[in-house]
Amino acid sequence: MQNKLVNLIQDIYQTKEFIPLHAPRFDGNEKSYVNDTLDSTFVSSVGAYVDKFEKAIEDFTGATKAIAIVNGTAALHTALHMAGVKRDDLVITQALTFVATCNALHHMGAEPLFVDVSRKSLGLCPEALERYLEEHAFVNDEDECQHKSTGQIIRALVPMHTFGHPVELDELISLCQRWHIVLVEDAAESLGSFYKSQHTGTFGAYSAISFNGNKVITTGGGGMVLCKDASDGVRAKHLTTTAKVPHPYEFFHDEAGFNYRLPNLNAALGCGQMEVLKEYLQQKRELAKVYSEFFKNSAFNFIEEPEYAESNYWLNAILCPDFESREAFLKSTNELGVMTRPIWTLMHRLPMFSSSMCGDLSNSEWLEARLVNIPSSPVKLA
Ligand SMILES: *Cc1c(COP(=O)(O)O)cnc(C)c1O
Repeated sequence: MQNKLVNLIQDIYQTKEFIPLHAPRFDGNEKSYVNDTLDSTFVSSVGAYVDKFEKAIEDFTGATKAIAIVNGTAALHTALHMAGVKRDDLVITQALTFVATCNALHHMGAEPLFVDVSRKSLGLCPEALERYLEEHAFVNDEDECQHKSTGQIIRALVPMHTFGHPVELDELISLCQRWHIVLVEDAAESLGSFYKSQHTGTFGAYSAISFNGNKVITTGGGGMVLCKDASDGVRAKHLTTTAKVPHPYEFFHDEAGFNYRLPNLNAALGCGQMEVLKEYLQQKRELAKVYSEFFKNSAFNFIEEPEYAESNYWLNAILCPDFESREAFLKSTNELGVMTRPIWTLMHRLPMFSSSMCGDLSNSEWLEARLVNIPSSPVKLA
């Protein structure tokens, strides 16, 4: 099976050399836009590409306001700050995520609280969340969600659209409303993914996208905060650009801001990438179809988009029958020069989050032992 798969992947990417999990591609206007910033010397915090890139993301996602940020982790930090997350607050998220989700809230002095994911979406499970809240939380007199045993406020919920597959948003939104929790989507991996025809990241009050080098499109490093509310967008922009009050020459800053603005140089790259995004998404869907066919009638299950969603298939994933077959699969494919990777170690096993509170995590653990990513770079099929 592994040998047949390696042959298929070498055919798809037309090479016998090493094949990475996800490589960037620049075959549009990227070079000319980046050169333009060099020629004009506007490579840094001033320049027209930042506004253009934000507008392109707003048009594509339908978000009210998009603010370009230095990276996805900083975008998450900004989104959580906007959501009112404070020192000692609890933020509910998945143990099955990339570490950036938890780092962002940890550095704010907040603590993660892990609930289980669904085996279907690979993202935060509404039933698990409801069960946890019913047992461990109550809405206090100030209309805040409070943890029964510690008294901490559960300020925000951060579901993550794993590998680009959207979580069950309707159910999570109604739980957030009922329990007075702010919804912040970690949409770092889901640019181009839609839940019931609406773009992911536009459901929460705030959300974060990443343009790291391995994401669907890249700006080298970069991110975006999406705001549902236009005035929140204005405030997020202000906050992430040192909170400077506009003035022809005076320096006056009206709060402790962040220097999180995406440089014009990176935004120029982003503008070029936005022009090819739709083509990449189409190619990724076709690639997913080929994998899906390949794994039919095998012991390995290809992860399909949930029926309510259109996924960007950022990273294609398969479920191995058990941990032993996962190990064998990883070993043989990597030895043959085809990069495959297990899913991230669950957050509650990492030293800095090992004493965090958790609900039942049996689906997360089941998936952790079996999930593997296979090469997913957009490619024109022969
Ligand atoms: C990539 C990613 C991030 C962080 O993005 P950076 O741009 O690398 O800081 C956050 N969360 C998830 C789930 C990611 O996959």
